[in-house]
Amino acid sequence: MNRSTLEKALGLPEPWRVVKDEFSAEERRLDITIDFEPGSTFPCSNCGAESKAYDSEMRTWRHLNFFQHDTYLHARVPRVACSQCGIKTVDVPWARQRSGFTLLFESLIMTLVKEMPVATIATLIGEHDTRIWRVLHHYVEEGRKKADYGKVERVGMDETSSRKGHNYITLFYDLDNKQLLFGTSGRKQGVVSEFAEDLEAHGGDSNQVRQTCSDMWPAYIKGIRDCFPNAAITFDRFHVMRILNDAVDQVRREESKDRKELKQTRYLWLRNPDKLTANQRQIMNDLPTHTLKTGKAYQIRLTFQEFFTQPDRQTGETFLKRWYYWATHSRLDPIISAAKTIKEHWEGILNWFDSHISTGILEGFNSLIQAAKARARGYRTNRNLITMAYLIAGNLNYGLPT
Ligand SMILES: [Zn+2]
Repeated sequence: MNRSTLEKALGLPEPWRVVKDEFSAEERRLDITIDFEPGSTFPCSNCGAESKAYDSEMRTWRHLNFFQHDTYLHARVPRVACSQCGIKTVDVPWARQRSGFTLLFESLIMTLVKEMPVATIATLIGEHDTRIWRVLHHYVEEGRKKADYGKVERVGMDETSSRKGHNYITLFYDLDNKQLLFGTSGRKQGVVSEFAEDLEAHGGDSNQVRQTCSDMWPAYIKGIRDCFPNAAITFDRFHVMRILNDAVDQVRREESKDRKELKQTRYLWLRNPDKLTANQRQIMNDLPTHTLKTGKAYQIRLTFQEFFTQPDRQTGETFLKRWYYWATHSRLDPIISAAKTIKEHWEGILNWFDSHISTGILEGFNSLIQAAKARARGYRTNRNLITMAYLIAGNLNYGLPT
């Protein structure tokens, strides 16, 4: 092959040039050896001062395939004896320090990861997946170093399960930019202060955060109060509704011990009437809903839902007080208990009328993250899951060649 064509294809600047290329059709492999002009000087990778090579070390990088041929670059990488910094390995233009892949190859990995699981990429390019994860972690970390969270004022937080059982990560989002800001293991109170620290490290200001949205997990509430003194908490309406849904289901489960017709009707009661299929509506119509405790609990839940469509906070509070009276006099224990939970979170539920924020956008990201996790059949570590979350929702700039 013409070496100057190869040099152009690789975008090799002075003093680097292609000195050898070996092409093996049987092994489907192309090996390109690069070297520098004798006597060349190189900038110190730390301070930039130029000096001649002190010694060098042979290195190999995986590069983009040349058609179907695995392609490798080989070069002796010079070290300089910098008068300021000591012995330093110089930066080569085609790869970052200590990576076994060229920048273009890493750029390919970062493109592929949007489309397919890491294990599939590993098979496709014939490399172990830990090498691919190393690349992903690196670029996500680089992207996050450059990220500026200076304008963050409204934060949504949510947990997502990381592995089977009770393993969680907590994700914090900018609700205005619709961007993942921070992810960390666990869902204890400390995760909120970890986030506050990270926010400040990225030009953000905890005092500037005015609104937060989360579920009613006590550790989150305490964390927000401690770390974001100027933030009002809005409890996410979907999580609030879930409390009512769970209460209706408890009533149904209890009642179905005597009323066999309630078996396998769980999902009917979780839906709104207009969302039922014709078949489900028929089943519902055939049930004596007016005499069932479950029917009563369902009506209480449907009415609670109308709270969110009230025109303003004052009307909303009047509505909620009436509903609370009705619910607590229902003689249905799960409903009474749900109503008490609502009472304990009164202000944060009413704050909906001021902020109109919910974690709805987070649920969208959450399902993308869970789908990626399912395709990967789970991740070995929380770190992998969090890196994947940043790749999906972080909107980071990786500064890679394209
Ligand atoms: Zn130096």
